Amino acid sequence: MSGPKRYYIETYGCQMNVADAELMGGVLKREGHVRVDDPAEAEVVIVNTCAIRDHAEQRVIGRVGQLNMHKLERPGVRLGVAGCVAKELGKELLELAHVDFVVGPDSYRHLPEVLDRVDEGERVVLDRFSRSENYEDLEPYRIERCAAWITIMRGCDKFCSYCIVPFTRGREKCRSPEGILEEVRRAVQDGAREVTLLGQNVNSYRSGDWDFPDLLSAVAQVDGLRRVRFTTSHPWDFTPRLVDAIANHPTICEHVHLPVQSGSDRILAAMRREHTVAWYRERVAMLREAVPGCALSTDVIVGFPGETDADFQATFDLMSEVRYNFAYVFVYSPRPHTPAAAIRDDVVPHEAAVERLEALNALQRGIGTAYLLEKVGTVQDVLVQGEAKRGLGLVAGWTEQRETVVLPGDRALVGEIVAVRISGLSGITLHGEVDRTDSREGEKLLELAMLDASA
Ligand code: SF4
Repeated sequence: MSGPKRYYIETYGCQMNVADAELMGGVLKREGHVRVDDPAEAEVVIVNTCAIRDHAEQRVIGRVGQLNMHKLERPGVRLGVAGCVAKELGKELLELAHVDFVVGPDSYRHLPEVLDRVDEGERVVLDRFSRSENYEDLEPYRIERCAAWITIMRGCDKFCSYCIVPFTRGREKCRSPEGILEEVRRAVQDGAREVTLLGQNVNSYRSGDWDFPDLLSAVAQVDGLRRVRFTTSHPWDFTPRLVDAIANHPTICEHVHLPVQSGSDRILAAMRREHTVAWYRERVAMLREAVPGCALSTDVIVGFPGETDADFQATFDLMSEVRYNFAYVFVYSPRPHTPAAAIRDDVVPHEAAVERLEALNALQRGIGTAYLLEKVGTVQDVLVQGEAKRGLGLVAGWTEQRETVVLPGDRALVGEIVAVRISGLSGITLHGEVDRTDSREGEKLLELAMLDASA
């Protein structure tokens, strides 16, 4: 081993990548390497990439190019690419982006050896899939303490026709329930009030006799844990048992992310989504009947090949009917290896797709704002995450339904769940003041804040 190094990881894309950055951090920390927040201070710079859309991929390749300046300025610096683009482009990246190493999502355990080999003058590419690697025994190096990401499965078996994930992250691999529960308990001991169970299709989890509702219910009962979330769900695996679990455990947050992608059966079939619009509607009705206040968010793709005005209108109508709290709308982006990328007919012109995107975003802005305005005047439990981006003396956190709330306070409140009286809304951010806290430490902080205010 060539000695401890300062490393910097820059992460793009989904929460799986955020959790993987913590996993890489854990692997490197175990070998004595030290995390830094500024690439200018690092001897190892890793860009943890996302390949889900072409634009995201080009952006990270551009960023790797910029980060190359650190190598030019300090020749000892090692530059590497991890994540989905590492798997997709593999050794091409050595020339394309002038990097020293490339590590795919199944190779993070080998990072210390990779750094040693690079120090010996090699340029290293480790991008093979592993049928068994799910990092069961590795302790992530968590950056946030009060909210922990827990990866319960990796990869995806669904093969939706537009999606590159099965080609960059491989087939589904589930961790053992014992290992997951142990990790949740450790995270709680280390200060986590909330955990989010992560997987590309989290509700298809299965290990022995355990399915996802079993696991979710067991996690929800871990001592000291206040909130459990999960993402992301496929409607096909969204079962009545899962809805029961959400309804029966108060620690499971009343927020479900349930991607619909399109409101047209014709397009859903072309996307190979395995369900119809009627099936999706039934899932939503089932959830809302059992958990009436449950917030719902979704993902939508517009401009999929063959999407007509009528197909688009069906999506618009479905979104108007379901009234999501939040929606991520994207223009379709052809990805290598996927069946949809081979479709040459009926391609929707980019301008038309962008118009559709704008129409859905405008619709959703109105619906989302109406939900947020309903919160003004109510008291919401907020898990304080950290100092607010803007404004001294302000902290930010989120509600059970994942709305962002900014309130007066300082770092001492971080990690507390406080009851906040919501007083206003700006953009998509709620504002409020602490109404009361539900913990002894919180009560003390509140008393101090009040003393300060009266002094
Ligand atoms: S369910 Fe479909 S969209 Fe989601 S990761 Fe799997 S293949 Fe991709």
